[in-house]
Amino acid sequence: MSEFQLYLKRPRWRRLVPFALALAALLWPLKYLAENHYHAKLIEQNRQTLDLYVANLLGTLRGYENLPAILGNLPVLRNALLSPQNSASQELASHVLKQLQQQTGADVIYLMDAQGLTLAASNWDQKDSFVGRNFIFRPYFRDAMDGRLGRFFGLGNTSDKRGYYFGSAVYSGSEALGVLVVKVDLDHTETLWGNAPERLLVTDGQGVVILTSHADWRFRLTREQTDQERAAIAFHKPYPTQELQPLELGAGVWLSQQRELEEIDWTVSILAPTSLIDRPVRSVIGGGVIALLAVLLLFGLWLQRQRHYLERIDLSTKARRDLELRVQERTRALETLNSRLKQEVLEREHAQQELVRAQDELVQAGKLSALGTMSASISHELNQPLAAIRSYADNARVLMEHQRHHDVHGNLQQISALTARMASIIAHLRAFARRDRHAPESIALQPALEDAIALHSQRRRAMDVELIRDLPDAPLWVQAGETRLRQVLSNLIGNALDALAEKPQPRKLWLHTTQTEDSIELRIRDNGPGFSDEALQRACEPFFTTKTSTQGLGLGLAICDSLMRALDGELLFENHPQGGAVLTLRLRTGAPGVNPYPPEDLPA
Ligand code: ADP
Repeated sequence: MSEFQLYLKRPRWRRLVPFALALAALLWPLKYLAENHYHAKLIEQNRQTLDLYVANLLGTLRGYENLPAILGNLPVLRNALLSPQNSASQELASHVLKQLQQQTGADVIYLMDAQGLTLAASNWDQKDSFVGRNFIFRPYFRDAMDGRLGRFFGLGNTSDKRGYYFGSAVYSGSEALGVLVVKVDLDHTETLWGNAPERLLVTDGQGVVILTSHADWRFRLTREQTDQERAAIAFHKPYPTQELQPLELGAGVWLSQQRELEEIDWTVSILAPTSLIDRPVRSVIGGGVIALLAVLLLFGLWLQRQRHYLERIDLSTKARRDLELRVQERTRALETLNSRLKQEVLEREHAQQELVRAQDELVQAGKLSALGTMSASISHELNQPLAAIRSYADNARVLMEHQRHHDVHGNLQQISALTARMASIIAHLRAFARRDRHAPESIALQPALEDAIALHSQRRRAMDVELIRDLPDAPLWVQAGETRLRQVLSNLIGNALDALAEKPQPRKLWLHTTQTEDSIELRIRDNGPGFSDEALQRACEPFFTTKTSTQGLGLGLAICDSLMRALDGELLFENHPQGGAVLTLRLRTGAPGVNPYPPEDLPA
């Protein structure tokens, strides 16, 4: 793996795991804080509810607390106690008590004599009337008769209804005639709670539940009882049963708060199910989990985006590197190709140079060959005038001795003419051997042709070849190199003579020119045997010859062809329909010059 790839190591979803665990650990403090918060909130709520309930309960009881003492002063009640045999006065008292009961909202108001017998009661006209019943066993009776305010909570013996009893003595002077009791209904204080999840408990001094919003808990023991307490319960019968069951409250199920009501020796408790805390805590935790999942999701998405981003970078980097590699490969291939091309160019240049050199050498070889051919005729041409000059000179000396000055003069003229002819021959030889590298120039065709003819004149005469010229008098200016043109013409005439040598008389050589707008054509025709079929195909190939090795090298036409090309001209060869070869030189027309005869090449 490269350094770059290491750097780009892609994020995976498993990277979320430690992050998720770290976030999940936050749920514990969150739970702790939520529990504390909701616990404190519930405690505060319950405290307020408890205060409200206590205020309500105490308010209810206090409203009736002083009622027996006040009502005990009513004469009608005192009269009923003073004349216990008078049923009318007791009836009247019962009517009054009923009225008072209705006005005050008390449950029952009744009047007992000093023996605890009920003489008059607000419920005198009901089935469960207290009239005629004795309640001497109730503690409030004894307390009232002793001059105190009697207080008691208990179940009505006849009604089975719970109530709080306030009892106060009815006096005649300082003598207690009996006791007036107001029973307050506390059932409605339970109903205040309705269906609230919190539960109310009011326990009395014996630890027995006397009021509760939950019916099952009623008259249950909240603590162990002493024997004395049990005996008091058996005597006063405040509860519907003597066998009190303990109240079982599961540990940790309830959150409890209490308030002691010292004046009535009661304890008011409020129990709130801890589930009230659990539920919002669960909601908070749930919210936390959702938030956690959301954060995880966002983080995961961010990781994925990052991963996609890195993948894109990776891909583009890879693509770029691939491209770079391809470019490098292509560059290398191009470099190889380039160096090969350079090599080929060098080789071609070299080959071209070789070709040029070979061509040069061919030209030179052709010249040497032509020179070889010419040397016989040159030596013949030079020897013949030399012999003539010697004989004219010998004659002149003899004539001088005989004082024949006129004849001497004639001989000297002959000698002069012969030296001029020799000079011409030497000039042709020099022109032929010289290498010509000049650019084409404007040259007159006829003098060059005459030079070429002159080179072969001795041989032509020996072979008795008839020369038929069809040339204009005016110089025909062509674009050529002088030496090269002469070399070509000399070659062609030499070949024609070679061909004519193979044939008996008559031997003829035609020279004919035609002129077009931009070219001049010279046709050299002989009535020799003409080109063989193979020669027609290959005559321009170097070293192709049909002649013996002493006669020809096979370079003549090859040189002529390449020279004509170099002059931007053309060499064509064919056989004439009437027999013999026709060689056509096509040259570009040159600008008219001044002197058709170059200074060094005088015509023969
Ligand atoms: P060479 O003269 O040394 O053979 P050339 O290149 O000049 O070489 O000529 C090639 C051949 O072309 C000759 O061998 C001959 O067969 C043929 N040829 C050239 N000129 C003529 C001509 N005028 N008539 C017939 N054949 C010719």
